[in-house]
Amino acid sequence: MKEFYKKLWGLELPPKIAITIWRISWDFIPNFVNLRYRRIISNDRCPRCCSWEEDSLHIFRDCPATTEVWRLVHLPWVVNNMNQSLWEWLTWVLKREYEAVREIKRPVIMTKFFRAQEEVPRTTVYFDAAFDSSSSTSATGLVIWDLTENLLAVKSIIHNNIPSPFVAEAHACLEGLKLGISLGLQSIKIMGDSKTVIKKCQANLPDKSVLGAIINDIHNKKGVFKRLFFNTRTDRRTHKHIDSQKILLLEGGLLT
Ligand SMILES: [Zn+2]
Repeated sequence: MKEFYKKLWGLELPPKIAITIWRISWDFIPNFVNLRYRRIISNDRCPRCCSWEEDSLHIFRDCPATTEVWRLVHLPWVVNNMNQSLWEWLTWVLKREYEAVREIKRPVIMTKFFRAQEEVPRTTVYFDAAFDSSSSTSATGLVIWDLTENLLAVKSIIHNNIPSPFVAEAHACLEGLKLGISLGLQSIKIMGDSKTVIKKCQANLPDKSVLGAIINDIHNKKGVFKRLFFNTRTDRRTHKHIDSQKILLLEGGLLT
């Protein structure tokens, strides 16, 4: 399992894509089967082929529409192993892709747990949260990149007793800040999808909402940094190591 995430982060994908694959690996994807399980919808049939229930494997591998997309992006081999479980299949695809990328890429030295000094360029912490209402748990995903797109650190954390997706996002943001502090970073940009959380972090007023305790904790930690920005994520860049069609394919499979 550790090996899988090491390879995933080692591929140096854009953060949004890496986090999406990370979510698929936990099956934290709002596919129809998961939505039906949470009683948000009652029909879990795939809207594209209308012939099978839409779980993650169906979206990314088994649906005839997906098979066609993989063929169009010249990756027909990914649907060769149809009887693997989601985890086996992801591991298998990632292993092949990782080896292919490693061959064409010059060796990159990744500096995990990098301690920043004055001259270190500004870094960006991307946070994301996946929330499971049935167990009141959430998962935080954090990825830190510097300005030259070197991956500095990754971390995932599971939280219990989480009442809502907003609280899950606020926790993820706080964890991002804590990770920045533990790495000794002095100038960082914190980015996430949740506009609500980002706005509250940008404001300098005490927060009286249900997120109050977490937001105030974030405000209290602001002083540690020389420069600190909070931004919502608008990251639509393609990346030198992955072609844009692959990104579209991965993003197209998501409902979020
Ligand atoms: Zn289908």
